[in-house]
Amino acid sequence: MTGMTRRWLLTAAGSSRTMPQPSALPEPVAFLRTSWSNDPFALGSYSFLAPSLLGTSVRQQLAAPAGRLYFAGEATSQEAPATQAGALLSGRRAAAEIIKAARPGEHVIVVGSGFSGLGCARDLTNASLCVTVLEGRDRIGGRTWTERLDGIPAELGASWIHGHKGNPITTLLRETGGRSYPFDYDSVVGRDEDALAELETYLSKAEDVEDPDTTPYSALLPSKMSPALRSAVNSVLVQEYGAEPEHLAIAAEEEDVAGEGSDFLLPDGFDRLLAHVRGSIPVRTGAVVTRIARTADGVTVTLANGENLRADRCVATVPIGVLRAQKITFEPALPAPNREAIEALGSGLLDKLWLQFPSVFWDKNADAIEWSDPTDPGRWSLWVNGHRAFGEPVLLGFNAGRPAHDHAHLTDQQVVASAMDSLRRMHA
Ligand SMILES: Cc1cc2nc3c(=O)[nH]c(=O)nc-3n(C[C@H](O)[C@H](O)[C@H](O)COP(=O)(O)OP(=O)(O)OC[C@H]3O[C@@H](n4cnc5c(N)ncnc54)[C@H](O)[C@@H]3O)c2cc1C
Repeated sequence: MTGMTRRWLLTAAGSSRTMPQPSALPEPVAFLRTSWSNDPFALGSYSFLAPSLLGTSVRQQLAAPAGRLYFAGEATSQEAPATQAGALLSGRRAAAEIIKAARPGEHVIVVGSGFSGLGCARDLTNASLCVTVLEGRDRIGGRTWTERLDGIPAELGASWIHGHKGNPITTLLRETGGRSYPFDYDSVVGRDEDALAELETYLSKAEDVEDPDTTPYSALLPSKMSPALRSAVNSVLVQEYGAEPEHLAIAAEEEDVAGEGSDFLLPDGFDRLLAHVRGSIPVRTGAVVTRIARTADGVTVTLANGENLRADRCVATVPIGVLRAQKITFEPALPAPNREAIEALGSGLLDKLWLQFPSVFWDKNADAIEWSDPTDPGRWSLWVNGHRAFGEPVLLGFNAGRPAHDHAHLTDQQVVASAMDSLRRMHA
């Protein structure tokens, strides 16, 4: 999520500054690139509400237990879908369901070690249940993934705490004592205020739509759009949900993910928060789950190596992309409501590119750089100024929706070249 919400659009001050115009840009000295749609343990970045008769109740429907099998993960969160906060809360919700139903000493298998899986395992462990966490990757954290670039925490998954007040991730930050950087979306260069104002005239018609659950956002937009308007659509909708307007239900706006308060970047990284939730809970990495079979008195979880693990209950916290691709076989088949919910949710795409430069050539004083590419609207439409937040000459670029899918199959070198081409044209 990039936080470029429609709410932000409505309150944005007209405070764009012009960009500096250096004659030539330095080449990056290092980069980190994501491709979440190609990641077999994610198959997308986060869930979004596609047009369907289920509307926002789809989250609750997905979360419904199927006998001794429980569901958690951001896609099941009604409070804050598509966020770390929603993931953590969903894991705790599943744990509470189990604690209510379980006998003392029961064994629970938790599939996945993102914020939802670790949050769930933490509460189950605290309740003295016996917990096994199975993680397909060779690391914990899932879509929270902190790498280091030039000494700074380069988040390859989530970057922001959205709305710090009352946010359980802020509580973790407080408990771990890390720093926070309040990100100011109005501290921006390159924003096209006219195109955003034009877009708002179309989006304001959402209130008149009879059935926002089944109507896509594209119904509000003209069939022919200028490049500037298409870029504005990308900034406001596609960067937020990871989905193009024709795939996104208007009701998605009802699922406002941003709580009260500021959006924080974390200069010390999210990995510390994950480690804090995990504590000393063991996680078995490299354990790829392929099948979950349930009976009246328990579950059998099968791994890719053929091993079977038996438990009293199981919690599946895998991403919506993994569920949609049927990477795990459920036996017997999931109840119809769960299956309908999996079909009704989309798996959005937001990809990132971190670039480290020898020195800063962009506006040092803005938090964000926006770019309305006249030739390929939406491509590299948002950059975060790492110099402001982290004090180093790094930029973080984003592609979402269609441009992200276009880049997903390119080599690393091609992705960096594409980004540099955009940066050069932005600064020409
Ligand atoms: C690029 C990007 C930017 C984002 N930006 C933000 C942001 O700024 N703020 C914010 O709050 N949120 C953001 N999010 C969303 C946030 O990262 C997720 O909502 C959250 O981390 C999901 O946690 P989870 O526990 O539900 O799922 P995950 O973290 O995905 O955990 C699920 C785990 O299941 C494992 N798994 C999958 N399949 C199997 C299998 N077959 N067997 C065993 N294990 C399996 C996975 O490896 C993973 O570890 C962003 C996400 C992305 C990708």
